[in-house]
Amino acid sequence: WTGTHFEWSGRVREVLQDVFKISEFRHLQLSAINATLSKQDLILVMPTGGGKSLCYQLPALVSQGITLVISPLISLMEDQVMQLRKLGVGAEMLTGSTKREENTRIKNLISKGPASEKPKLLFVAPEKLAKNKSFMSFLQNLHRANGIARIAIDEVHCCSDWGHDFRPDYTFLGVLRDLFSDVPIIGLTATASNKVIADVQKILNLQGCLVLKAPFNRPNLYYEVRPKTAVQKDWLEEVADLLSAEFKGQSGIIYALSIKDTEELATGLRERNIKAGWYHASMSPELRSKAHTKWLEGKLQVIVATTAFGLGIDKPDVRFVIHHSISKSIENYYQESGRAGRDGRKAKCILYYRFADYFRLSTLVFAQQTGLQKLSHMLAYCTEPIKCRRELVAEHFSDTWGQGDDCKSMCDHCRRPRSSEQVDVTKHCISVYRLIRNALENETKLTANMLFDLWYGKGKPALRLKDIPAPTHSREYMENIVAHFISEGFVKEDFNFTAYSTTSYLKINTAGQQKLDAGYRIKTIVAVKAKRP
Ligand code: ADP
Ligand code: ZN
Repeated sequence: WTGTHFEWSGRVREVLQDVFKISEFRHLQLSAINATLSKQDLILVMPTGGGKSLCYQLPALVSQGITLVISPLISLMEDQVMQLRKLGVGAEMLTGSTKREENTRIKNLISKGPASEKPKLLFVAPEKLAKNKSFMSFLQNLHRANGIARIAIDEVHCCSDWGHDFRPDYTFLGVLRDLFSDVPIIGLTATASNKVIADVQKILNLQGCLVLKAPFNRPNLYYEVRPKTAVQKDWLEEVADLLSAEFKGQSGIIYALSIKDTEELATGLRERNIKAGWYHASMSPELRSKAHTKWLEGKLQVIVATTAFGLGIDKPDVRFVIHHSISKSIENYYQESGRAGRDGRKAKCILYYRFADYFRLSTLVFAQQTGLQKLSHMLAYCTEPIKCRRELVAEHFSDTWGQGDDCKSMCDHCRRPRSSEQVDVTKHCISVYRLIRNALENETKLTANMLFDLWYGKGKPALRLKDIPAPTHSREYMENIVAHFISEGFVKEDFNFTAYSTTSYLKINTAGQQKLDAGYRIKTIVAVKAKRP
């Protein structure tokens, strides 16, 4: 499917460059585009951020008629419609909550509008198809007039309850294959497990359709998590040493959480003779592009950036991506760290982890629907004591790992295997609960930091509990255990926000308390000590 000999090949390249302003296809994009333009039904599996949308957006501009895009999230649809309009592409969206006049306007535009104004893409919420008969008959009329070019189903794993995000309305999409005969269907997902894909094919009546699956594993990337000290100066010393020794003469990116961090860290590195620049969304476009160019040309060794730096970076020889703070999710981390080693040569991805950074992020993402859940997966990745990092990522994307797969010592845990043991940490959870409850009785909510102070015998005497002894383990060790309580849902957060800042307070999960009352034991794995060679 990678060929460029199709009747549409010239037009495809033109649209890629002129409309989307992209110079080269990424892995599998051209194959997916050729397949769907050949009217093949297909399922495309690519990691998040891999560039799936282009695989139906571009064909939409090459084909006659409209492309229907079914997508589970209104915010995702809004983003895409906005981006497409910015590129000058006509796009509309219809959901269950679209107002009647808007509904009529869009339908009229599609069926009776002048050719030049007809939208090329129509984003539709699945419930609109499942529950709205008049909309379905509108589509069938459109189909009879050859007005439907193709149907794209985004996040197609949502129709399978084997996936992680089952949506009942998606199961209804199985009728599309018969109702719209000869209209090609393209399903897209980042969920790679064969079980889910087989189930999706069955539910959508796409048995035996073409499946294009991009590999998730990046064998040339070395993954590592390092502890981050509380003192910024120490971090700067450590990283400046790395950049002037191991990464000497090589180019890379440091991701930081805030705009202020990027400027401070870059300045700190410059003071240590590292050629560092910064990049973030509040800089003027000129300054941003100047920083980008200097980095591309190698005049800057490293660019310290917020995640605003990313889209459109295609520097092949990035040898290191360092995260000064954790990412919002494993998907984000995979994407950001994945900018290293595009040339296929070895590159390092180092993430600096500190428990406190979790709360910097939780206060940013808590308002998003799945924000905290995704962040807790990231937390579990960072605090994992022994398992292969690559395997963790593969599992997260439901990619298969095991048969014949090998990290080849390309992660910290595989390079220095440690032995581990399972420990019962129930008593620690009880202590945490008691400290939180006691503070509440004294009209105080505890931040994680306050909790640890009290636990170790510091902080307000009235809030301490004499019969809870200070932990015998280090604070870092105990933080990992509390991180486990958070990622397992035993400890929740309570967010308090003012116009200026948001604070996270720890909260007891009632369901967790009930579980403990019923005798449930919480167990976790901890590393013991380095194995003898
Ligand atoms: P996905 O849906 O797979 O998560 P997107 O379609 O949102 O990913 O694409 C992620 C980003 O990559 C977008 O900003 C998109 O513009 C960009 N992109 C897609 N294809 C290419 C390409 N061939 N070259 C450069 N950037 C691309
Ligand atoms: Zn490994």
